[in-house]
Amino acid sequence: MSDKNKPQKPFSRRSFIQTAAMTAATIALPGCSRKEKPVLTTLTGDFDPLRSYPYRGWEDFYRKIWTWDKVVRSTHSANCTGSCSWKVYVRNGVMVREEQAADYPRINAELPDYNPRGCQKGGCFTEYVYSPQRLRYPLIRTGERGEGKWRRATWDEALTMVAEKLLDNIYNYGPDTNSFFSVIPAMSPVSFCAGSRLAHYVGGVFLSFYDWYCDLPPGEPLTWGVQTESCECADWFNSKYIVLWGSNISQTRIPDAHFAYEARYNGAKIVCISPDYNSSAIHADLYFRINPGTDGILALGVAKSLIDQNLIDAPYVKEQTDMPLLVLSGTNRFLRESDVKKGGKEDIFYFWDTKQQKAVPTPGSMGSDQKTIQLNGADPALTGTFQVQLADGKSAEVTTVFELLKKEIVGYTVDKVAARTGLPANEIELFAKELGTRKPAMIIHGAGTNHWFHNDLSNRSLILLVALTGNTGKNGGGFNHYVGQERVWPEQGFFKLAFPETRKKQRFQNTTLWSYVHSTNKDPHLYNGKPIEWYIQESVKNGWMPLWPKDGKKPRAFIVWRANYLNQAKGNEILESSLWKDLDLIVDINYRMDTTALYSDVVLPAASYYEKVDINTTDCHSYIHPFGKACEPLFESKTDWDIFRALAEKIAEVATKKGLKPFHDEAFDWTRDFTQLGHDWTGKGAIQSDEQAVNFILGNAEETKGMAYQLIQQGPLRFVATDPESWNSDIEAGVAYTPFKHQLEKKRPWRTLTGRQQFYIDHPWYIELGEALPTFKEPIEEKYPLYWNTPHGRWSIHSTWRDHRAMLRLQRGGPIVYMHPDDARKRGLQDNDWVRIHNEVGHCVCRLQILPGEKPGRVTMYHGWEKYLGFKEGGWQSLTYIKIKPTQLVGKYGHVNFRLNYWGPTGNNRDTKVEVEKAKV
Ligand code: SF4
Repeated sequence: MSDKNKPQKPFSRRSFIQTAAMTAATIALPGCSRKEKPVLTTLTGDFDPLRSYPYRGWEDFYRKIWTWDKVVRSTHSANCTGSCSWKVYVRNGVMVREEQAADYPRINAELPDYNPRGCQKGGCFTEYVYSPQRLRYPLIRTGERGEGKWRRATWDEALTMVAEKLLDNIYNYGPDTNSFFSVIPAMSPVSFCAGSRLAHYVGGVFLSFYDWYCDLPPGEPLTWGVQTESCECADWFNSKYIVLWGSNISQTRIPDAHFAYEARYNGAKIVCISPDYNSSAIHADLYFRINPGTDGILALGVAKSLIDQNLIDAPYVKEQTDMPLLVLSGTNRFLRESDVKKGGKEDIFYFWDTKQQKAVPTPGSMGSDQKTIQLNGADPALTGTFQVQLADGKSAEVTTVFELLKKEIVGYTVDKVAARTGLPANEIELFAKELGTRKPAMIIHGAGTNHWFHNDLSNRSLILLVALTGNTGKNGGGFNHYVGQERVWPEQGFFKLAFPETRKKQRFQNTTLWSYVHSTNKDPHLYNGKPIEWYIQESVKNGWMPLWPKDGKKPRAFIVWRANYLNQAKGNEILESSLWKDLDLIVDINYRMDTTALYSDVVLPAASYYEKVDINTTDCHSYIHPFGKACEPLFESKTDWDIFRALAEKIAEVATKKGLKPFHDEAFDWTRDFTQLGHDWTGKGAIQSDEQAVNFILGNAEETKGMAYQLIQQGPLRFVATDPESWNSDIEAGVAYTPFKHQLEKKRPWRTLTGRQQFYIDHPWYIELGEALPTFKEPIEEKYPLYWNTPHGRWSIHSTWRDHRAMLRLQRGGPIVYMHPDDARKRGLQDNDWVRIHNEVGHCVCRLQILPGEKPGRVTMYHGWEKYLGFKEGGWQSLTYIKIKPTQLVGKYGHVNFRLNYWGPTGNNRDTKVEVEKAKV
């Protein structure tokens, strides 16, 4: 055999290195001195081809980028709902970068895990910490509000000014003239509690946020008696049918969207219902480009199809919902024990037992002695009309809620629904069939649907779908609403820290109502022939909704922290010209100069997310992890805890200097000695630091038993229990959390008047306004041609990061409005034109972007732009005003009672309509 024909040795790694080295030895290497050719002693020995390269500094510089002195675990609190654990790298006292911690323990081997977790905003927060927007010193306004003229003040001067004003107001006008606004405790409860404790001890009005931001889904308190209950996002993977309804998870749930998309590999189908063809729609098996504001009619049309095709889960519906409950035909009120028995209770209800052929009391209602909804062999009738004997001996006709529902939705035929929603009839039928047959099925619900005026009706209609199909209370099923980081897991510990002398001794206020009444906002609509003012007066008179301050007084001082009230305020121009003018003192505590800070009188610089100790929880997962102090607060900033402690001490000092006698607060029979405020505020000296406050929360909650701050600095920990007072499911090892298992599996009554998922609300206002049952009502604005859509965006979390250099570079660098090409063509508009957006309330001027994915008849501006960020005129809220829905003002109806952030009018804004024209700039 010739050499040529011998089998060749494979080209080994070693022979490759040898060849390469020999080649390197014979040619000049780029960057090497030709005179100093490397001398090779051996082919594999010590060899540095860049040995004589003269510019070695850059390598050192590059390497040093990746060195650090210490790593501190922290996170962000901008109400993103993400709650992602990050490592912050610090060198020479400077935070140089952050990295996803990626150490959430797995729930089980089958479920995808939470690692790594984060978004692009979190990934550039270190730059924000050192940005020019950062507030460095206490500031006192010298020009007009919003003019941007300030002088630097000392902490002592600024705090004295605030303390004197708060005390003056209390003694001269009453404690209810001091108002406090902060948001979303779950995202940093210690910072929240710092201010709420002060409000508590000075008797101030504590304002709501979850309803005001329209994050509250009012259908949940109405139907389930809860503020919001959702599964953690890992449970999405357990679903076989995921309906993204008004929720663009690719943009607004960046850390969690993968659970839904990975569920497709687990056999799930995805439906996306959204007017725009967006970044979540591209993942859908079925996409509904629905007409804006018609979600409710689609849901009710699908409910009708489910019933018509017998796709409902009848045993579930009989046990878990109010569908079998009896309603008196004459009054449309539930049949109550007080109707059939003299001296009977108002909160015991009846169903018709087909076995006994008579009306029997439903177990588990608010007035029932039975603390279970177990039917014990009874078989409630879902349909039919029956006769019952009343207490006065007369006979009366009753029927079931289910019969009434069928009548209510009889008109929502597929053709009618298709015509109104703009969707193909056959696809609506397909959707109904799949929703009724693919189990478990869930709706992931978002602000796109919730921000409409009739949000309570659409919530109830959507919840109806997952109740009829028996999906609520099961892993992978249910109606899961994620708007706002509302879930404070260690809730009882939080409440004890936030309002130490019990929540009963606190002036709480719904902010939508407060902002409407204390400004010149005017809703021109009539509701059943009456203006909203009539409903407000009745509600306040009946004690359904509180209204502070009392006796026609105006709020005089307003303290805002961890929030951007003015940026997010519906009708903010109206508020600026009325409420704002009446306020003698506006204080903003903030780490950056946002719109509210700009329009304040005193600005106090706060520590950023990486300069304080706190904790962070979310609905989206079942873990707790901390904020850590990577650096001391920059410049003269302080943590919220330290700021409010200093303010409490300053109030005590001023009260002592002025010789103020204790103030008797009649509303709570509470004598407040302000000379002791510093001592009271710190829990009589027991809770001095942020870390002690964290440990107080952890130590006073079932969910975090055995945990302490230093332990969670090491890594996220899953909650160990769920306090039955706050929760409707247990937390189970190896199982993703989903709510309402107590009701489904343990037969615990629902937290409603009837003890069941309650779709029928027989409050007189609901009956009068035709909303006793879920129904469809049209959006309330007609006049202008284009809906004004201001959803949550990809490049900011509300207003935070709106002004971040890196995020601005991912968009067009300033406020833009998106419009469909057809709408642009009709108006002669070109991409990037300056346009004037206007309606009867106001206007703004910004750039136009033409977007084929936008729905014709609607324009979109992602929300949160600060007023000073690139608008030629106005701002994104200049076109809105506050609209209060009468049914959201009711109270004293079983489970429907005012409670902060649980029940009260929502600050909706989606019904706003506008026109767009080319601007003269
Ligand atoms: S901003 Fe929110 S979603 Fe983004 S990384 Fe931070 S915590 Fe996560």
